[in-house]
Amino acid sequence: MSPLTKAYNAYSSVMPIANLGPGQTAPNILDHLESLRTKDVRWRDGRCFTLAYSAGPDVLALAEESYRRFSGENALNTSAFPSLRVMQQDVVDVVTGWTHGDDATAGFMTSGGTESLVLAVRAARKRAEREGRNLTRMNMVLPSSAHAAFEKGADYFDVESRRVPVGADWKADVEAMRNACDDETVLIVGSAPQYPQGVIDPIASIAKIAADRNINCHVDACMGGVTLTYLERLGEPIAPWDFRCDGVTSISVDLHKYGYTSKGSGVLLHRNKTLRSDQTFITDNWLGGMYGSSGILGTKSGGPIASSWAVMHYLGDNGYERVTQSARQSTMRIYEHLNVHPDRVVRALPDSTLVSFGTQDPNRHDVFAIADHLISAGWYLDKQTPPASIHLTVNAIHEPLIEEFLADLDRAVQQVGSLKGSSGSYATTE
Ligand SMILES: *Cc1c(COP(=O)(O)O)cnc(C)c1O
Repeated sequence: MSPLTKAYNAYSSVMPIANLGPGQTAPNILDHLESLRTKDVRWRDGRCFTLAYSAGPDVLALAEESYRRFSGENALNTSAFPSLRVMQQDVVDVVTGWTHGDDATAGFMTSGGTESLVLAVRAARKRAEREGRNLTRMNMVLPSSAHAAFEKGADYFDVESRRVPVGADWKADVEAMRNACDDETVLIVGSAPQYPQGVIDPIASIAKIAADRNINCHVDACMGGVTLTYLERLGEPIAPWDFRCDGVTSISVDLHKYGYTSKGSGVLLHRNKTLRSDQTFITDNWLGGMYGSSGILGTKSGGPIASSWAVMHYLGDNGYERVTQSARQSTMRIYEHLNVHPDRVVRALPDSTLVSFGTQDPNRHDVFAIADHLISAGWYLDKQTPPASIHLTVNAIHEPLIEEFLADLDRAVQQVGSLKGSSGSYATTE
């Protein structure tokens, strides 16, 4: 018996075969689905500061209905679904406008930030190959704050990740990044803003390094692409982060975050079609004929495309200005509240709509204990390290609940402080 057969037999003798039972009625199943979600976070009520975004029930309803109508359509082949081609092009054109691209700018919709970043790493590798650079081990240079998905890309495509510590202001240290580059560097990265502390890296200076070296510079605007665009239109001073910076070769913007569309939607743009060709894939080396795809997915649901198209046209510039302003005001309200309390430390003045904070005296106020109190009070937020912090992604759904949240936060801080005084340790009170 081959080892594989043996392993299979051992596996099949211990694993019971899952039994679906007789079919059930659709209403029963839907009831059951609803009962399964009773313990999920209540993001539609504005009680969740991570993972999910809402600009209100009307936007959600339109996003879901348009998603439903195109959920079974397949964007793998847009000749079969010209509707999806038109919608995708329209969405890409709008994001090109947001990022100050021009007629040469070219891109595709992706399934979101991770796919965009993984493809950006792949494109940098492909460009080096296309240009005939003879490299032994390619590397990319990025700040310690850049998103984890870059590591995924480095792992998938065998590119060394050179993380450079950020400065005291949490922004990329440009000189240190310049020094980390060598002849094998194919990609340099900045974020607008970076996720952990919500600050914008000095993109113009980072992109200059790439321009000098003739390599790719990716700007991760997955979180900020929509918000920074509309904050600038609202008159806020925003550090340059988009195609207006010479040397930027690609930009990612997620729509399923501050675009308020359904999940599974982002855009990856390249400065021109040649650079975009480093992202795409085509083969005829199988028995099924010519096969091309723009990203990692093969079959690609039309749902996120239709949902994005619908929500973007529904909100329009006025709608995005309104929801951006709302999220920004809530962010600054939280920031100012945290700042007046000497026992809390805000990591940075938010450049967009992300706030991260810890405590002045972690022995007295364990910030994760505060987070747990808030979570048991019905809120949901991210616990982040290093350093130990609470991270809030503030969006348009939060405005009416901010005062309630801040009151609960103060209560949680007080409870944790007094527990500390009586028992000496939060952990022993669990
Ligand atoms: C969310 C995020 C990503 C990853 O995007 P997903 O859509 O979760 O895959 C990448 N970069 C930044 C800055 C992000 O905030």
